[in-house]
Amino acid sequence: MPEFKTVRGMRDFLPEEARIMKYIERRARNVAESFGYREIVTPLVESYELLATKAGEEVRLRMFAFKDLGGRMVALRPEFTPSIARVVATTLRNEPRPLRLFCLGSLYRYDEPQRGRYREFWQSDFELIGSSRPEADAEVLSATNRLMDRVGLRDCVFKVGHVGVLRGVLTEEGLNDKVQNAVLQLMDKKQFDDALALVKNSGASEKSLTVLRSLVELKGNRVSKIVEDMKKCVDSYEKAVVAVENLSEILRLVVESGCEISVSVEAGFARGLEYYTGMIFEVYVPELDVALSGGGRYDKLVELFGGEPAPAVGVANGIDRIMLAMQEQHVIMEEAVEKKVIIIPVGDETKTDALKIAGMLRGANTMVEFEVMGRKMTKALEDADRRKIDYAVIVGKKELDERKVGLKDLKKREQITVGIEELTETLKN
Ligand code: AMP
Repeated sequence: MPEFKTVRGMRDFLPEEARIMKYIERRARNVAESFGYREIVTPLVESYELLATKAGEEVRLRMFAFKDLGGRMVALRPEFTPSIARVVATTLRNEPRPLRLFCLGSLYRYDEPQRGRYREFWQSDFELIGSSRPEADAEVLSATNRLMDRVGLRDCVFKVGHVGVLRGVLTEEGLNDKVQNAVLQLMDKKQFDDALALVKNSGASEKSLTVLRSLVELKGNRVSKIVEDMKKCVDSYEKAVVAVENLSEILRLVVESGCEISVSVEAGFARGLEYYTGMIFEVYVPELDVALSGGGRYDKLVELFGGEPAPAVGVANGIDRIMLAMQEQHVIMEEAVEKKVIIIPVGDETKTDALKIAGMLRGANTMVEFEVMGRKMTKALEDADRRKIDYAVIVGKKELDERKVGLKDLKKREQITVGIEELTETLKN
């Protein structure tokens, strides 16, 4: 037999890692619920056409796509947003707005595996559908910031921009959507020279090139100053000015609401996914050079899937990368540590009663293991010690006859005899 390994880009999460992952998921769910988001579960496999409709070239080319046995072209979802847009455009068509939806699950992209980049990864998404107002954008930024705070991450920076600024300039210069997408994609990859060359070759004016060059330089954490400079920079492009004003209002709402958030505005910031129409953002920590989360406004996506036009804004929080960041920052998870108990019967004759006691303790919400290896007492206690179990309940014939058991504190190495009826209470205290 060959020695089987995980497929390239796929990973096992062993108990320690799975524990962190599930902790992040719980916190994400709590944060989502505290903002009124309801969870929905959508399929891992969707039609290729749905997924390819509006994803950027980047994601489209990296889908795990295949024909199912019925000959349908399908793919493993590379992101949640198309599934959400599908649900909103169809099943939830008549639900009152706004809709606040939350998704959690795995996604698949044929990326080149490296630290923080895998072919299977997990996200928790918050999507707010139905409002085009800046308070909706501000809510998604605040919820994301709350999540970072709740998992215990420090020094997060929100890189924020607005695709309407760049698109505003390019539209008024007469560049069509296809060229605009290509330009934004190059800018997303920081290939600014290539982006500008493409703009120039598409017939844009010299003035627009100067404007774009200055926009790329405009970034930093002095939010009001940068926004003001952006506005001056694009003042002859009406649509771009409207976009800057929208960005300015979103950031004002977030900051003035008392949300403790660290923002860096970047005027030349673009994101790979084509469907963004307004504010866009990514979250970083100093310890990692990849974004933990990414999001923004996508006002046209729902109608693309045949729904009534529905403005929307959302975020995809990358659980794998949040986990990496927590490990880098040595975050201590705030979890109630449960006491662990092992039940060890002395010999076969007390086994049934020992099992009953285990059931009784579990009924009282205690974490209980049962000795299933048939080990002798000394070996069983040694093993419990090694696995950092707190207490051993020793069920011997003599004590059992008096409805009692031995209770050993494995940390203090002290043993007492306790009545079975008092056991739950004694362990609690
Ligand atoms: P995107 O859907 O590309 O906007 O990504 C949103 C978030 O998902 C990113 O900020 C990452 O945290 C996470 N993510 C995207 N691609 C990967 C990947 N290949 N491996 C791990 N996490 C990813």
